[in-house]
Amino acid sequence: MHLKEKSNQKVRPIDCRHFINGEYRDSFDMKTFENMNPATEEIIGRVSEGGKKEVDEAVKAAKTALKGPWKTFTSSQRSVVLRRIGDLILERKEELAALESMDTGKPYQMALEIDIPRAAYNFHFFADYLTSMGTEAYQQDQQALHYSIRRPVGVVGMINPWNLPLLLLTWKMAPCLAAGNTAVMKPAEQTPMTATVLAEICKEAGVPDGVVNLVHGFGPGSAGAAITEHPDVDAVTFTGETKTGTAIMKAAAPSLKKLSYELGGKNPNIIFADSDLDEVIDTTLKSSFMNQGEVCLCGSRIYVESSVYESFLEKFVARTKELTVGDPFRDETKVGAVISKEHYDRVLGYIQSARDEGGTILAGGSRLQEEDKGYFIMPTIIVGLDKDATCVREEIFGPVVTVIPFETEEEVIEQANDTHYGLGTTIWTNDLRRAHRVAHQIEAGIIWVNTWYLRDLRTPFGGMKQSGIGREGGMHSFEFYSELSNITIKL
Ligand code: ADP
Repeated sequence: MHLKEKSNQKVRPIDCRHFINGEYRDSFDMKTFENMNPATEEIIGRVSEGGKKEVDEAVKAAKTALKGPWKTFTSSQRSVVLRRIGDLILERKEELAALESMDTGKPYQMALEIDIPRAAYNFHFFADYLTSMGTEAYQQDQQALHYSIRRPVGVVGMINPWNLPLLLLTWKMAPCLAAGNTAVMKPAEQTPMTATVLAEICKEAGVPDGVVNLVHGFGPGSAGAAITEHPDVDAVTFTGETKTGTAIMKAAAPSLKKLSYELGGKNPNIIFADSDLDEVIDTTLKSSFMNQGEVCLCGSRIYVESSVYESFLEKFVARTKELTVGDPFRDETKVGAVISKEHYDRVLGYIQSARDEGGTILAGGSRLQEEDKGYFIMPTIIVGLDKDATCVREEIFGPVVTVIPFETEEEVIEQANDTHYGLGTTIWTNDLRRAHRVAHQIEAGIIWVNTWYLRDLRTPFGGMKQSGIGREGGMHSFEFYSELSNITIKL
């Protein structure tokens, strides 16, 4: 295949600048860095490289905007603006999907069908939610009336990951604006394009200048660290690696910022013998390899009850080998390129560790042979590993799963919980009592029975243990993005 096929003829990649106080801006020193398409290894644009100075400007604009016209917006007016942002995202969905695909290496069809519609829905959902919210009130006998009011937290810093760039950024931005805050966002350095377009969309939808600001740059010692250290940033919402969460917590400690974290996962996918194996395999292909396995919710540890272990493997391996890997702009592509050379090397390193530790590779295990460019890794299934093997314990964040047989319910619950992560779990069984019994014992914030990735945005989303702090979704988002004041009136 030729490289020139791996792009979208209609949409050109964009250069990315900061967006501060309603205008696109260069860095003070005009510094930029390169943006690479991981599917072609081509440099597709330049990105302004921000640091402390640009973050200072953005935070100043966000702080000033809290007291500007935005403060006078009623909740219905904010709701109208949110709805327009969602509409404008949908109007530009092909363009946004193409930019997302070029930035991440993910299949264009996935971006078009999942990432971008969900980004729009994040705004539409919170536009509706906002107008249906009430507050608490209590009458204390004849003595007093207590009621609470919600107000914005202030300036919110948003540090974003590269795997689902616009989907996860809007999951933060929509409730942040719904609650009347202002924002300084930093997209991941690998994926700057859709955030850059979102800034323009917000302005067009009627968000006043200074409410939404964007600074591009890196993490440590760069724009990311400057946001998390800034004394006038009141809250930080972060999605990314657990160890980055630790660094951000340290940086945020001196000014005691409110924090919301969605971190890594090593999610079990538990398959009992009484489940419908064809349905299990259809969903397990997605939960294993969707977005190249670069989704924090992917079920990378598959546990199968031993009586169906062989039959599961036979079908699962065959179906995995049928997945089309390669050019993200081909309609039939299911698995694209991983995000960068560094990540590609890391994922291949994990696969090598499985070989070294006695594992057997039943599918994949190497790069896509038909391509000489692009960070394509074949969907990989590993068996025969011990429960303490590196690939069983560590988050790989690539198209790699391990499959391990189990005998009893107790044994699989113990293995599923034997991790410092606690994000998601899927349980496959047609036994109703077992479904509840196992779900109640699994240490994870998000537990699915006979499904995966199904979300209702009103429900709490987040991880336990080292997979996160706090929950977002519906009212839970408002708990983070607003401050409550209780008012007591003596009667
Ligand atoms: P990865 O290593 O896979 O890129 P990270 O968790 O490091 O994942 O990155 C997620 C986001 O966090 C990116 O936007 C990155 O720039 C940012 N980031 C990384 N380190 C820091 C840090 N020390 N402080 C603030 N932001 C950071």
